[in-house]
Amino acid sequence: MWKMELVPKSLPLIWGLFCLCLLSTDSAHAQQQQQQARAQAQAGGNIASPWSDDEAHSNRTLDSILVPRVVGSRGHQQVRDYLVQSLNGLGFQTEVDEFKQRVPVLGELTFGNVVGTINPRAQNFLALACHYDSKYFPNDPGFVGATDSAVPCAILLNTAKTLSSYLTKEFRNRSDVGLMLIFFDGEEAFKEWTNADSVYGSKHLASKLARTPSGVQAGGQAQLASRNIDRIEVLVLLDLIGARNPKFSSFYENTHGLHSSLVQIEKSLRAAGRLEGNNNMFLNRLSGGFVDDDHRPFLEENVPILHLVATPFPDTWHTPRDNAANLHWPSIRNFNRVFRNFVYEYLVRHTAPINLRFYRT
Ligand SMILES: [Zn+2]
Repeated sequence: MWKMELVPKSLPLIWGLFCLCLLSTDSAHAQQQQQQARAQAQAGGNIASPWSDDEAHSNRTLDSILVPRVVGSRGHQQVRDYLVQSLNGLGFQTEVDEFKQRVPVLGELTFGNVVGTINPRAQNFLALACHYDSKYFPNDPGFVGATDSAVPCAILLNTAKTLSSYLTKEFRNRSDVGLMLIFFDGEEAFKEWTNADSVYGSKHLASKLARTPSGVQAGGQAQLASRNIDRIEVLVLLDLIGARNPKFSSFYENTHGLHSSLVQIEKSLRAAGRLEGNNNMFLNRLSGGFVDDDHRPFLEENVPILHLVATPFPDTWHTPRDNAANLHWPSIRNFNRVFRNFVYEYLVRHTAPINLRFYRT
């Protein structure tokens, strides 16, 4: 992952999105605003009955992931197997998107994105994602990447675990929306972060989903997506989470409504005394910057992105100190609480497809 605050490299992308907005017609713009309002209303803010923690599960899960897991290593294979088993155990239909690719320094490697789905035949999906590989440092074979991104992986599994009574009962067999958990492989650069040497797994999965027709039969409904990637209503990407007092800004105008509902959920949980400390994690403001990460290939396919990455980055980022000793457990528990309620509210209030895509004319 790499941070770029309006440096030249990020400008073409930001400009590209801006142009799409300018090109949209007034009615398309009004339609988009309506969709945003619906999405925000859908993800809620007033928490009637918050879901309970399962901290034992959270800790156990993190223990299993928090090992060096550079692509091609034994730890990497172990974590990949663990993710598959965990998803299967939580009732997801699980696939590994495996491929081989030559990379700088380490040569040919086998990568595998792990993807779990509930309601795979649904019309659309809420996709939650993180990366499970750890960065290769020639002089630090023990690097475990606690915030980068072992904790985000544990958060995704804990979200599914704490919501499992809902996900495996009322939610199952819904045809309007499914839930997808994506554990990307090969996010980290092997030599130096460039467009080519980074996000190997997400590039592979995005191009695969963009090539495959959806094949969904929705019985006469008009708005069928033609490609699988277009069935993702929003890709929520978690990264660099687990340090003390994180701050999450909103990065994209089209998902700002969803970001605002995270702000609201945090506020109502805090008012109800269900969060620890006084740090407001979710900031109700649009960031002017761009953080390059696994969402890039999906953004290029016009998938709406909610990027939950702590900025500023944790000060342990890409150092040997990004380990369990420097995690801040109250911040992790708080994130888990807000995030699981957000996911639940999104799914439970969902009735029809939400289209937050930038309009192309
Ligand atoms: Zn990293």
